[in-house]
Amino acid sequence: MALGNHAKHLGRAPGSLAWFYFSAPSPDDGMPTKFIFVTGGVVSSLGKGIVASALGSILEGRGLKVQNMKLDPYLNVDPGTMSPFQHGEVFVTDDGAETDLDLGHYERFTQARLSRANNTTTGQVYSAVIAKERKGEYLGKTVQVVPHVTNEIKERIKAVARRDLDVAIVEVGGTIGDIESLPFLEAIRQMRTDLGREHCAYVHLTLVPYMKSAGELKTKPTQHSVKELLGIGIQPDVIVCRTEHPFFPDTKAKIALFCNVDEKAVIENRDLDTIYAMPLWLREQGLDELLCRRLALRTRPSNLAPWERVVHTVRRPASSVDIAVVGKYTEVRDAYKSVSEALTHGGIANGVHTEIRWIEASDLEKGGAAAARALNGIHGILVPGGFGHRGIEGKIEAIRWARERRKPYFGVCLGMQTMAIEFARHALGLKGANSTEFDPQTPHPIISMLEEQKNVRSLGGTMRLGAYPCRLAKGTRGAAAYGEKVIFERHRHRYEFNNEYRDAFARAGMVFSGLSPDASLVEMMEVKDHPWMLGVQFHPEFRSKPTQAHPLFKAFIRAAMSRGR
Ligand code: GLN
Repeated sequence: MALGNHAKHLGRAPGSLAWFYFSAPSPDDGMPTKFIFVTGGVVSSLGKGIVASALGSILEGRGLKVQNMKLDPYLNVDPGTMSPFQHGEVFVTDDGAETDLDLGHYERFTQARLSRANNTTTGQVYSAVIAKERKGEYLGKTVQVVPHVTNEIKERIKAVARRDLDVAIVEVGGTIGDIESLPFLEAIRQMRTDLGREHCAYVHLTLVPYMKSAGELKTKPTQHSVKELLGIGIQPDVIVCRTEHPFFPDTKAKIALFCNVDEKAVIENRDLDTIYAMPLWLREQGLDELLCRRLALRTRPSNLAPWERVVHTVRRPASSVDIAVVGKYTEVRDAYKSVSEALTHGGIANGVHTEIRWIEASDLEKGGAAAARALNGIHGILVPGGFGHRGIEGKIEAIRWARERRKPYFGVCLGMQTMAIEFARHALGLKGANSTEFDPQTPHPIISMLEEQKNVRSLGGTMRLGAYPCRLAKGTRGAAAYGEKVIFERHRHRYEFNNEYRDAFARAGMVFSGLSPDASLVEMMEVKDHPWMLGVQFHPEFRSKPTQAHPLFKAFIRAAMSRGR
């Protein structure tokens, strides 16, 4: 199959300082992109993102070039300003877009490097339409949801496909029946008319609940959801049914009959012991075969060997390591999705299971004894990214514990900043040392605002965002982990290490192992006299995959394994 020219170029995003890799648009290779639209019905949280991602990995396993895309029906331009309690993690792409956490799943399950084009929100669509209206681009016309908003949505979907993809998997957020998602559904319905039947397939996810008292699986909610979809004009080609209980022999036939699909097109999506088994499970159910036939894609069967290896390790780990994640949003696990994933990947790369102990930072604020109790028996500590004052002192307690007891520590973004504050206070004796984010009057502003941030007033999309180069110093733990001199990692922050303290820190045993190429920004630091204590200003978790663990997470888990309890 002609996969076109996939040359990678290093470039700069328009209007941004972020460096990023992008696929250069290439002339049409004669194989127009096929679209698979994924919708959800009955309830939210069905794992649509995982199914869409796993489908991506199976199709990649067939040698196809695939990208996932998410359409989010909310009015925010992006999730960057939403609370993690509301929205979970904000995933950052190489080109500096703040996106939905499903993009994290897409990148973890496929080889694609996504960009801001892969996440479109209602807010973006309306902003673009209104901006065009003000410029006079619709002159003379009444601007309406159909066709102007739907055209804008279709343009955005096609823009992703223009990167010479074989298949674009487009997930529509929300649940069928929501008012908000109607323009998106209308747009994807029109696409079949625009492009033809062989170019668009529709996959609908539903819930098939099990009634224990009756001992029955109920298909009625699925029937209703499909009816709703049909009312919009979309006949699903495949129905993927989330179920806690294995299907009975007649379940598929019943759904097929009432929902107008082939029995083979009813896929049982059982709860699995690990989400990494999803590509294998869906392939076993024939999902990719069915879709490829439907879309006239002729390829070899899917090779999922890397996923088979991952699942094998997850199911038979040699041992287990306990890692404490000391954070502020620990009751919403989705808030730290990429971090917990990356820790798991680090375990897989070392053949072990990573057990995460979630610790609410403010619970550690009662002093050293509270920290020692909560952290007892832990092999390593990670402090993830975060914003605002709450919980900072608790994080500093945990870091002090790790440094003094020589336990492996990994600080990510805010976790590096708090590592620096702890070092200033307790290794250098700088009383009251802090970040100006938490104490603007601190006598020792170890962390202060980035110069470029000082005049920034609005909050949306204005941080230092996206991938930047970082030069690693020879002979450091960072350089050993990567085995490279220059790395590219993604950022999302407003504050940085204050260079006035570099000399004092270096004299006290802090090594600045990663700097921006002009040496003006500290991107990575590590404590010399410690088995493994390292902080990074960037977010390595965004680049980790189950099949390719991030080098720093791999090294951290290895250090934790060898440190005992
Ligand atoms: N609040 C800190 C800053 O803005 C850290 C941000 C983060 O951890 N992502 O610099």
